[in-house]
Amino acid sequence: MTDNKCALAMLEHVSLDIWDLIDELRFKYQHSPSYHLNSTAFSQKNDTGDWVMSCCPKHTETRASFGISKEPPYHTNCFYCGYLGTLDKMIEIAFRLYDGEGIKLLLSDYIFEEVRTPLDIEGIIRDGREPAKIPCLNESELIKFNSAPTINKWTYDIALTYLMNQRGMNTHTLNTYEIKIDVVNECIVFPQRTRTGELRFLQKRKIGSNYQGAKFINEGSPIKKDILFGLHFINQLRTSPKRIRRVRMVESPLDTMSNYQVGIASVATNGKILFKNQVRELQLAGIEIVDLFFDNDDAGRDATTQAAEILTKSGLIVNHVLYPKQFVQNQKVDSNDLLKLGWLDSLETKSISLLGTKL
Ligand SMILES: [Zn+2]
Repeated sequence: MTDNKCALAMLEHVSLDIWDLIDELRFKYQHSPSYHLNSTAFSQKNDTGDWVMSCCPKHTETRASFGISKEPPYHTNCFYCGYLGTLDKMIEIAFRLYDGEGIKLLLSDYIFEEVRTPLDIEGIIRDGREPAKIPCLNESELIKFNSAPTINKWTYDIALTYLMNQRGMNTHTLNTYEIKIDVVNECIVFPQRTRTGELRFLQKRKIGSNYQGAKFINEGSPIKKDILFGLHFINQLRTSPKRIRRVRMVESPLDTMSNYQVGIASVATNGKILFKNQVRELQLAGIEIVDLFFDNDDAGRDATTQAAEILTKSGLIVNHVLYPKQFVQNQKVDSNDLLKLGWLDSLETKSISLLGTKL
């Protein structure tokens, strides 16, 4: 439990925007298995000054009785059922997670990492202390996988066959995005870099579809709210004549790589929620137009609405890439499937100009 204590101590020193957090929790909740049991949880958000109130995730109610404190370490209190606890515990209850997973979820998805601590001038003069920086992984953590074929050629070949034959990736794309194979853990490794190219974390995905336990394992800093897979390439071109102003935004690294392979600049959100920090990074990389292309399911459509709103508010031009008419609503299909069909570079787009337009 040392990890947990350490993480809780971290919560005391980070700045969380509770107002935004409740929107994100509500979104996640609407797509969780608990939603049908208590459809109002985290709805009816309002600010009382010290607390941001919403409907309690522990029971159904019509008025918002559940408060999250706006100050670290962000205690929660239901003024109706009397529940008192920490934010991470409440997340575990709402999303039926195991002990310790609530804090991980908070740190990986919801922490607002722009901690505005006043500069400790005296500390810097006294012992050279610098303001805290988000840790990055050393490049050697990625390069070490270059020896994978000599460690276990069998597993390495299975992974590569999967990527090339089943996912249609070519060697050039795999090399460009520095895709590695972790033969020990039987994972495909996707390096996740910041806009400026630092290695923030390694996203590891189990090879194929016959595996036990979690599909994804992350290694490195859990802070990923400002990370868009593929953005560092676009950022490099920002000041060159080949500057890229328009990207296709997708959910997963493989979707980004699929689009790249047909000549379309793309970034992946690594999930369903587009964070403000990610939007800011896009703008810093010189992007002006975003073509949204999330998965063809209900969650994907909600994600499109949410992303369109935040991007439009930030002054970007937003379009929606349409799935071919052959696919019925909710049919499982993504960029990678369309790559294999040869349709990925000939899709229709529709402009999203009005806020609140139902997709
Ligand atoms: Zn309650």
